[in-house]
Amino acid sequence: MKCPFCSFEESKVTDSRFSADLYAIKRRRECLKCSQRFTTFETVDLTIQVKKRDGTYEDFIADKLFNGIMAACRHTRVSHDKVKSLCNEITADLMSRQLREIATQELGAIVMKYLQKIDTVAYIRFACVYKRFKDIKEILDAIDSVKEDNCNIINNKNEDGLYGAKTC
Ligand SMILES: [Zn+2]
Repeated sequence: MKCPFCSFEESKVTDSRFSADLYAIKRRRECLKCSQRFTTFETVDLTIQVKKRDGTYEDFIADKLFNGIMAACRHTRVSHDKVKSLCNEITADLMSRQLREIATQELGAIVMKYLQKIDTVAYIRFACVYKRFKDIKEILDAIDSVKEDNCNIINNKNEDGLYGAKTC
């Protein structure tokens, strides 16, 4: 993408975000030569297929992702808007990977990575659904993996910690 000011061919992306309808990505770029800023508008061909556990495929649908995350965030301090922007962020992440297909588990792992940063309770709930924990130890390991600065629950590594999370 040539700089519209000096025609230099290299620029760096300073910001990427979705258009309101989610069908395009706007990128703020800065020319590496003249430092002028400009915006590029990319439309996307989002035909990612999700490979389910039973081996069947279905189209990736952002609404479905939103509903899944929303369910995990119920009764937490995560707002509707936050879930929406998280959903956009994850969708943009998927697109940037230029995948044609993604396994359910892989998609779940990506969502968990994002949820982990914003809310412990939502993260654990989501992890329970996606990882299909076999026992409490796996759940506790998931809690242990949550970063310390995220929430004080980490200092309380027992089952009660799950409930204590509500007050942190
Ligand atoms: Zn330039």
